[in-house]
Amino acid sequence: MKKIAILGSTGSIGTQTLDVVRQNSEELKVTALAAGHNVALLEKQIREFSPRIAAVADEADARDLRERTKDLELTVVSGMEGLLAVAKEEEAEILVTAIVGMMGIRPTIAAIEAGKDIALANKETLVTAGHIIMPLAKEKGVKILPVDSEHSAIFQSLQGEAGNEIEKILLTASGGPFRGKSYEELEHVTVEDALRHPNWSMGRKITVDSATMVNKGLEVMEAKWLFGVPLDKVCVVVHPQSILHSAVEFADGAVIGQMGVPDMRLPIIYALFYPKRKTLHAEKLDLFSVGTLTFEKPDMETFYGLALAYDAMRAGGNVPTVFNAANERAVAKFLDGKIRFLEIPEIISEAMTEVDYIAHPGLEEILSTEQATYEYIESRW
Ligand code: NDP
Repeated sequence: MKKIAILGSTGSIGTQTLDVVRQNSEELKVTALAAGHNVALLEKQIREFSPRIAAVADEADARDLRERTKDLELTVVSGMEGLLAVAKEEEAEILVTAIVGMMGIRPTIAAIEAGKDIALANKETLVTAGHIIMPLAKEKGVKILPVDSEHSAIFQSLQGEAGNEIEKILLTASGGPFRGKSYEELEHVTVEDALRHPNWSMGRKITVDSATMVNKGLEVMEAKWLFGVPLDKVCVVVHPQSILHSAVEFADGAVIGQMGVPDMRLPIIYALFYPKRKTLHAEKLDLFSVGTLTFEKPDMETFYGLALAYDAMRAGGNVPTVFNAANERAVAKFLDGKIRFLEIPEIISEAMTEVDYIAHPGLEEILSTEQATYEYIESRW
């Protein structure tokens, strides 16, 4: 039995992780779950998977959950303390980090320090604190197993290639719902338009990030940290069918990639059982019905959020944190109907120049940069 803990069990990645557990209940056991405010769904998950600890966002949710589960042997915790308790739950061997945002950093560090492997979906952790997380994981001898489909594809393409230098990472992108549109055509797009992703069903924030291509920018940064390559070796390739999930080019010109239908349960099951491959009861790829795969260069002028991500990573220090925090706040405002779609990259760009630069931020400085970015944005928009 492999024992797992999940942060963000009620979300898109969390529920798909539990589906993988459901399909492999002989070999996987859930010991701890953390969610935000969806107490009703968490209660259902607790009754099905019997964790020892459950965490929720705040104490009011915790009281509600304790009342609902008073017939069970369960410890209910809340807030950051709750996330940390789930991350460090003593029996778990692997932590799935599927919460949104920088609140994933502290629990990820705590889990690494406790010797747990990490199945990493929460990309914000590496984008903002990759310089802390990667050396710490190495020092503690824990694996960071990517759950993001592109990074899982790269990771899979690198199996058996130890010692062979990466010439280029080909990071594929669907292009989102607005691929091919001009800047002017994006002037009046609505929240509903942005949430209509052509291939993937995901949480709301990451779906908007796909529409702006900021998600791909975050993934470029994530790839740089995960695979230790210089930024100019990470090349974004628009591939609207989302069948090739990413690839690696080697010195001899060989390009090794991973294909499959767009289904996040594949990278999840790969991370949970790595290096073994297990049966996934899901649709399989039928190349005859796919027919044609196409590839294009990204339009970095219209979707300049992607270009800003490269700028942020080149600037280094706390700028990737500013990029991430500004995007998070801008997307929240867009989803609330307070700003237009095209204001998202404008806000990121302005915050990147206005928030104070820190060359070598530690954890506290990363978190204070997030606050400073939020405050700057609130003072302007
Ligand atoms: P969702 O919005 O679907 O889920 C977020 C999860 O975080 C929910 O369980 C939510 O709980 C929980 N949460 C929110 N606030 C808190 C809080 N204060 N304390 C504890 N838990 C909280 O997100 P996704 O699953 O889409 O994404 C999760 C991460 O994975 C992100 O970093 C994303 O970038 C990354 N990712 C997602 C992919 C996808 O296909 N969805 C693909 C690749 C990466 P509740 O709902 O109960 O409030």
